[in-house]
Amino acid sequence: MFNFLKKAFKEFSDKVTKPQNKESEVQIEKPETFSEKPKEVQKVDAKQNFLEGITKAITETKISEEYFNKIFQELEIELIQNNVAYVIIEKIKARLHKQIVGHAVKRSELSGIIKKELQSLILDILEMPKPIDIATYVTEAKKKPVVIMFIGTNGHGKTTSLAKIGYLLKSKNITCVFAAGDTFRAAAQEQLQEHGDNLGIRVIKHTYGADAAAVAFDAVKHAEARQLDAVLIDTAGRQHSDSNLMDELKKIKKVVKPDLTIYVCESIAGNDACEQGKDYNESIGIDGMILTKSDVDDKGGTFISLVHETGKPIMYLGVGQNYEDLQQFHPQKFINSIIE
Ligand code: GDP
Repeated sequence: MFNFLKKAFKEFSDKVTKPQNKESEVQIEKPETFSEKPKEVQKVDAKQNFLEGITKAITETKISEEYFNKIFQELEIELIQNNVAYVIIEKIKARLHKQIVGHAVKRSELSGIIKKELQSLILDILEMPKPIDIATYVTEAKKKPVVIMFIGTNGHGKTTSLAKIGYLLKSKNITCVFAAGDTFRAAAQEQLQEHGDNLGIRVIKHTYGADAAAVAFDAVKHAEARQLDAVLIDTAGRQHSDSNLMDELKKIKKVVKPDLTIYVCESIAGNDACEQGKDYNESIGIDGMILTKSDVDDKGGTFISLVHETGKPIMYLGVGQNYEDLQQFHPQKFINSIIE
């Protein structure tokens, strides 16, 4: 699915490890002098140390600032093209710079050092927010129903993801009801009703143009009366810059006080997804994210950027259009897939 960094990383580490020409700005270390050791030891070890020095000169390398900057540029372009936010690229650059510029490093170890640094930096970003597993969250919650609100731009897969979560809960014998909180878009209610019919999950809806907060409120009351475990609220998803939409979402939040607010966005949206995620987080507040359409995205940089920008975990990946096409997100697995 994601292989964007593999090529970029390989090219970068190949260049660092095997300089292309004589003036490749990589300076070969001179054999070490023996002056750091006491005289007696020098005497005994002189021959051996000399050999070591020679070997070192061949196998060790010192990467210069200029050469590093030159080859990092190519990795940087690759990262930008793959939706990795600039601030993260700067961090990657600083980490790699610290590890390899000006140090005598064994050529054979360089590639491993770069790989380790990239992996640990990305893992730090992705693992910083605490992961949330919805089924566990609902089961362990001290209240009934757990109220979960889904927000995000139209067409990104919000309703489909809500239905997938409904399917997931149902498969674990966790009961829920859907709230048709998108009272704005034509056909949104029918779409949710169709999912409800397919899954055998009740849908609470009002007429078009009705107050979305009232729909959500009714769904919570319905769940309370029937002792259901969860309420999944669908919402409208016009432009995130639309202040009416933001007001509508804020109102729903105020009225039903969701336990979890999940931002759904398609991973192919790249930097737009990032900007929107940031805006939704700042205006509405989110607890986690579902990234859809990862089955058609091989970039994956959006993932790192989104978590970095929002500080919130990616909970699931949408990997297709069927109900079972939802995968829990595992940072380490993801990293293994982007850096071999
Ligand atoms: P909403 O407007 O945000 O509620 O988006 P929808 O749930 O209606 O989804 C929009 C389109 O994206 C539909 O055709 C879905 O089948 C499709 N879709 C949703 N999630 C995924 C996914 O993970 N992978 C793929 N390939 N398509 C998806």
